[in-house]
Formats: sequence, structure tokens, C-alpha cells
Amino acid sequence: MQTDIRKDLTEIVKQLKTYLEETREEDFWHFKEILVDKKKSGLRGKKPNLQVDLSMHQSGAYLEKALTALHKRIKNCQKCGLHKTRINVVFSRGSAEKGIIFIGEAPGYDEDRQGLPFVGRAGQLLDEVLASVGLEKEKVYVTNVVKCHPLFNPRTPEKRGNDRPPNREEITACLPVLKEQIFMIKPKIICTLGAVATNALLGKVVSLTKIRGKFYPFRVPFGPETLRVEGNLQGEPYGETKLFPTFHPAAIFRTPSLKNIFINDLKKLVTEVNTSAR
Ligand code: SF4
Repeated sequence: MQTDIRKDLTEIVKQLKTYLEETREEDFWHFKEILVDKKKSGLRGKKPNLQVDLSMHQSGAYLEKALTALHKRIKNCQKCGLHKTRINVVFSRGSAEKGIIFIGEAPGYDEDRQGLPFVGRAGQLLDEVLASVGLEKEKVYVTNVVKCHPLFNPRTPEKRGNDRPPNREEITACLPVLKEQIFMIKPKIICTLGAVATNALLGKVVSLTKIRGKFYPFRVPFGPETLRVEGNLQGEPYGETKLFPTFHPAAIFRTPSLKNIFINDLKKLVTEVNTSAR
């Protein structure tokens, strides 16, 4: 009898623990942190407080070493089905020198082959726009939400134009890697490129057209919560950074009129970076 009660209690505690963990996990990226309801928060007419704890931004050899170790750790990752067809795990390019992370959705054909993000047509356009607004591509960190190439038809991996956006399962499986990257870099600004990356970070579907081109206070998992979930990070307090959603450069090929909007968004980004560096 007592054994049965103990078993039941153990099961209840287990379920409660799982529930609490899932709830907290959702909270990490939850939209409530940004796009604050201005009426409720009293921010109406006021500029949101976008102060960033710059002491948390990391750089230098230590950071590079930590990122390289993470890259090495996921090189043989098989957490989702994309591992079956990938050529390379596409980790990142550039550096965190400016404290900016650009995040796209997933590698494409060229990226899979070269093992680097944003090296295809869209990447070339991104580089062109970065240069036009005075951002050196080597000084910004570029990555994707998902690190392996999603294919429409896995039976024809050699075919170009066979890319698709990552699905929910793939995003969920791969997000911990991005979280670790963000945790290590502690960026001043996270610039999401396109709806997939923006939604993945926010944990819900939003209208990119409505929210793009603005800075939002964004709490990122710089802390013991991450340690608990991922099991291999150092505990530190939460840190607030800024989220800046804009279009994915690939969208410009479909709608060329977006190019000027994209350039103007990145100009805003540069102004913000320069202002916060003073
Ligand atoms: S997409 Fe991410 S989770 Fe899936 S196999 Fe590649 S590295 Fe692992």
C-alpha cells in the first residue's frame, strides 16, 4: 500500500517537474518580453528603456575558443532528420566584434556545400548591403536558427532550388545551439532576418511587416535557467539585449522594392550600434 502511494507521489512530482520545465522553456523566448503592450506597461509615448549591460558582451580569444568547441560538439549532431542529407553542419561566419548577431532561417544549397552561412545569392546581397551601410562583414556574426540544409525533396539533393524553410520540429531540435551561441556572445543586438528566424526567437507567429525595423528589449537566456535546460552552460544573471527584426535578403529577389527598406533598416542598426558604443 505504502509502496503504491510512494510510486504515485513520485509520478506526480515527475510530471509537475516536466510541466514547470516546459513552461519556463517557453518563457525564454516568449513574446511578452518584447512588443510590450504599451498601454499596460505605461510605455505609451515614451521610448522603451533599451539599456544593455555591455559588461556582458564577450569577445576575444576566449569567445572564439568557446564557439569553436560548440561547433565541434555539434558536427555529428543527429537530433533531427536533417542530418541524413546534410553535407555540412553550417555553424557561423564572421565575428562578434561589433556585438551584432544576424540570424537567418537555415542553410541553402551553397551554404551546405561550403559549410558557411549566407554565402549564396542571398548572402552576397547581405554582404553588399552591409558594405553599403559601413558594416564590415568580418566584424558581425552571422548564423541560422537551423544548422543543416532542409530539402523539399531529399531524394534529389543535388538539385538547386530544392530548399525549404525548416519545420517546427527541426527548429525546436536546433534552437539549443543558437541559444548557446547567443549565451556565449552576449550580443548587443540580435538582428533576425525574415519571419522564420523572428518567429523562432519569439516563440510565436508575428507579422514581420508590422514589427520590422524597430528595436525591442529582449531578454535572452544568459543564466542559470539555461544551465538547467542545456546542462552545460555557466550560470549568470539574465541579460537584456535588443531584438531588431528585418527582412531576409532572399525576399528582395522576390520583391525588389524591399531592397531600399532593407538598406534603411540596416542603416538604423548601424546608427544604434554607433550610439551605444559611445
Ligand atoms: S539541424 Fe540542428 S538539430 Fe538537426 S541535425 Fe542539424 S545540427 Fe542537429
